[in-house]
Amino acid sequence: IVRLDKVNKFFGDLHVLKDIDLEVSPGEVVVIVGASGSGKSTLIRCINGLEEFQQGHIEVDGNELLPHGKAAQALQKIRTEVGMVFQQFNLFPHLSVLDNVTLAPMKVRGWSRLDAMETAERLLERVGISDQAAKYPGQLSGGQQQRVALARALAMEPRLMLFDEPTSALDPEMIGEVLDAMRELAKEGMTMMIVTHEMGFARDVADRVIFIHQGEIAEQGPPEEVLDHPRNKPTQQFLSRVL
Ligand code: ATP
Ligand code: MG
Repeated sequence: IVRLDKVNKFFGDLHVLKDIDLEVSPGEVVVIVGASGSGKSTLIRCINGLEEFQQGHIEVDGNELLPHGKAAQALQKIRTEVGMVFQQFNLFPHLSVLDNVTLAPMKVRGWSRLDAMETAERLLERVGISDQAAKYPGQLSGGQQQRVALARALAMEPRLMLFDEPTSALDPEMIGEVLDAMRELAKEGMTMMIVTHEMGFARDVADRVIFIHQGEIAEQGPPEEVLDHPRNKPTQQFLSRVL
């Protein structure tokens, strides 16, 4: 469902992604780990067209992204088919929880308010916050807000979900509830790419762990291989710091 061919990305002189080749199959859960500044967020952001890249190409569910932000039509489709959850929840503060979740399906997909509301209620139930639907984001805990963000992304019926450190801004006691909701989603067969420092979660949920080092895929494989028997030095050093 996702394919990157020799993707290279620069910020000015800084070579941030180096010849990234990567394929993700439908239903696969890929966890991306690596040191700060290694290019994890940039990789995720290239896949849904939030960042341009300079060389190579990216295909997401049959839509092709080309260097320098060409292929604007594909970009539109990719943005509707790919859900994203960020570290900062990015909810609309002036909208209720329910309206946060119904807005995009109504505006982008053209659903009726009734259909959008039914779906939203089901999704809020699923992430365990149906009782918060009438509240505003500012009235919720971080963990609740992040679950709203997840429900909002799912409301678009995405074919792929991208997560960039979804629990990094949360108090420790709230991390579990967000990871549990993500775990459920993985079980249901959603294709997911997740940047996280939660190694226990990675071990549980990932089909594949990718270790990024200085803009390159340094090592990848099943979690028990990459996390327990890393083969190269940078991976070993990184893991000895985080595990
Ligand atoms: P972290 O774990 O801290 O989130 P990361 O692996 O997500 O790190 P990126 O955010 O992808 O790293 O950044 C990769 C490199 O690109 C870093 O050196 C960063 O400083 C640089 N960079 C990121 N965004 C920009 C930007 N908009 N302009 C210039 N340089 C940037
Ligand atoms: Mg990042």
